[in-house]
Parts: sequence; C-alpha cells; structure tokens
Amino acid sequence: MQIFDSIDSLQTWLKEIQKADKSIGFVPTMGALHEGHITLVNQSNQDNDITVCSVFVNPTQFNNPEDLDKYPRDIKKDLKLLEAANCDVVFLPTVAAMYPDGEKSEDFEFGGLENQMEGKYRPGHFDGVATIVSRFFDIVKPTKAYFGEKDFQQLRIIQELVKQKDYHIQIIPMPIARERSGLALSSRNTRLTPTYKEAAPEIFRILNLIKDWKNDFSVNQTIIKVEEEFLKTPFELEYILICDELSLEPISNWDQSENIRAFIAAYAGDVRLIDNLKIK
Ligand code: AMP
Repeated sequence: MQIFDSIDSLQTWLKEIQKADKSIGFVPTMGALHEGHITLVNQSNQDNDITVCSVFVNPTQFNNPEDLDKYPRDIKKDLKLLEAANCDVVFLPTVAAMYPDGEKSEDFEFGGLENQMEGKYRPGHFDGVATIVSRFFDIVKPTKAYFGEKDFQQLRIIQELVKQKDYHIQIIPMPIARERSGLALSSRNTRLTPTYKEAAPEIFRILNLIKDWKNDFSVNQTIIKVEEEFLKTPFELEYILICDELSLEPISNWDQSENIRAFIAAYAGDVRLIDNLKIK
C-alpha cells in the first residue's frame, strides 16, 4: 500500500496509472474508519484497477469548532484496516496543502438540495464538503467515486456537483452498513457512552416504524408519532424529515412521490447521530 502526504507525490504516482489507462476508484473519508468505510473500499477494488482512499478531517465542513476538535482520529488503526482491505493508495494531505489560501470554503448552490436537514442545521457544511470533494476530484481524477447513503444528502449534493462542474466521474452510492443491532456504523459511535450505545439501535427501530405507520397515518401524523417515540428514548431529536429522494423536499402526503426516504438527526449527549431509511 502506497501512502502519500503530498499532492505532488500522489499525482506523480497517479500519472503512471492514468498513462496505462487504468481505472481509479476513489473513497474520500475523514478517518476513524470502520466496516462501513471498508465496504466502499471493497466495492472500489472490485470495480477498478486502483483504489485511492483519502483520510482528511476537513475543517471547513464543521460549523462547530468543538465538534471538529472532538472528531475521532486514529490513523494507525485506519492504515491497518486499509492495508487489510487491499487498498492501493492512501492519501493523507495536510490542511495547509488542501487550503493553501486559508481554511475557506467556496460558495455553492445546489438548487435547494442544501436547504434542509444537514444544510439547515449545520450552516456552511455543504460548501465545505463540496469544496474539499471538488479539490480531491481535481487531484485524484478518479474514474469512479464512492459515497455512502449514510450521508444521503451529501451523496445527492455530490451527484449535483459532478453535473455542475461537468466532472467525468461516476458516483457510486453505497448502502448503509449497520451493526447487527441496526445502529448505522459511524466514526462518531466511538464517542457514545454505554447508556447511549445501548439505546442507539432505537433510532433505526423508529425509522422502521415509519414504514408501518405510513399505511395508517398521514405524513404529519407520522412525524408526530416519531417525535413521541423519541421522547421515550434518551436521545434529543433534532429533526425528522420525510422527503422525496431526488429533490430532498419534504413531502406532505405519501402519494406525492414514488421514492421517499426518512431522515433523522439526534443528539446522544454531545454526540450527533444521523440515519435515514428508504420508506417507499
Ligand atoms: P466519513 O468518514 O464519515 O466522512 O465517511 C466517508 C464515506 O463513508 C462517506 O461517503 C460516508 O457516507 C461513508 N460512510 C460512513 N458511514 C457509513 C456506513 N455506515 N455505511 C456506508 N457508508 C458509510
């Protein structure tokens, strides 16, 4: 496994790969890797000649400095997991290399995709994500790039970014990897206290209830039921939204869209968890 921390050295190496017309799969991550990330690496390995995984905690996508500070980091373990997964290249750039003109995002507009959910509750988040992902795309020039449905809104925004910037990159969505309990794997899970860890599968359980409730209740009634259900848990619900999968606009009745997904963000103490589930 090749490890690069400078843009130049990575690009010199990749040039040979591109010359040989080999396909490059790219998996951008913020590290503290788990089996969810590894499913993306595995898929990339299957689809491409070479897999490049970046590990970079992107400061501009954190609206809350404390969240950035507390974001879990374990590069030794990350490298072990990537090596075991037969990842070909790991890219570990510095913040200064990725932000030579200072830690600022570019301004993006994604036709409303950015207005709800993470965009609303984490102002500037998607400008930060789109800035760093487009910089990575420019450096790595992948054939395919892999994004988890765990961050479904991010995935939709990256699909839009590719259209807007006319990148010739195929975006491959990957299903959410979960613990057996249903808890969506997340780097942030390592910060859960035992009480929250034990209760965490409740989030997936409640998401699943929406599938049943949609047969008997309106969208609004369902949302109220979700809110009530959360009151029985130790979590503090930040949002529950039921949206059209393409526009990410909240729906007001079940027949409004053929593809409906429910989205939840909730606090487990100071740890913010997100999850989502396809409802229709
Ligand atoms: P992160 O390191 O959290 O920025 O995630 C890097 C990539 O891994 C993103 O495309 C995420 O959506 C994806 N990812 C994170 N957790 C999971 C999961 N449980 N299942 C599938 N993909 C995931």
